[in-house]
Amino acid sequence: KSGFIGIIGRPNVGKSTLMNHLVGQKIAITSPVAQTTRNRLRGILTTPEAQLIFVDTPGIHKPHHPLGEVLVKNAEIAIRAVDVVLLVVDSSVAAGGGDRYIVELLSQTTHPVILGLNKLDQQSETAPTLDRSYAELIAGAPWPMVKFSALTGAGLETLQTLLIDHL
Ligand code: GDP
Ligand code: MG
Repeated sequence: KSGFIGIIGRPNVGKSTLMNHLVGQKIAITSPVAQTTRNRLRGILTTPEAQLIFVDTPGIHKPHHPLGEVLVKNAEIAIRAVDVVLLVVDSSVAAGGGDRYIVELLSQTTHPVILGLNKLDQQSETAPTLDRSYAELIAGAPWPMVKFSALTGAGLETLQTLLIDHL
């Protein structure tokens, strides 16, 4: 099995950190500053069962200026060109308008979508409320949800298995 997985999400949710951790290399620059990733970057993970080609994308947001428009266009192209979409959100905060905008964009796609709840390590006792906000965000869509930390690596094996199952 092999295929392309598009890592999609609003800025700063940890998309680049995730790709780097999954492929075990520092391919994408990660930063607390939004819009560090300006191009689609690829990383390859080879396991005994599959070859996963990850496509890290610039964060998607409602464009407010020309550079923003180019970045969002790139992400939209990436969504079309992959086999599976991994929508990454920051589960240490509740779902917001930025996530809703992307869910609306993705409602058009025919590819399988997996909802990845990142920053598990930063969740506290409010976790059930936060998780529920994401379940409600995608309500109606049959997208599997998986929780992980791109920083610590917790949950990433489950994520890998889920991705391979959807290729
Ligand atoms: P991107 O804009 O979605 O590519 O986000 P980055 O990968 O550049 O990460 C944005 C910030 O979030 C950086 O400061 C990362 O170190 C941090 N970050 C990413 N993943 C995690 C995580 O699982 N836990 C925590 N605590 N921080 C994370
Ligand atoms: Mg990035």
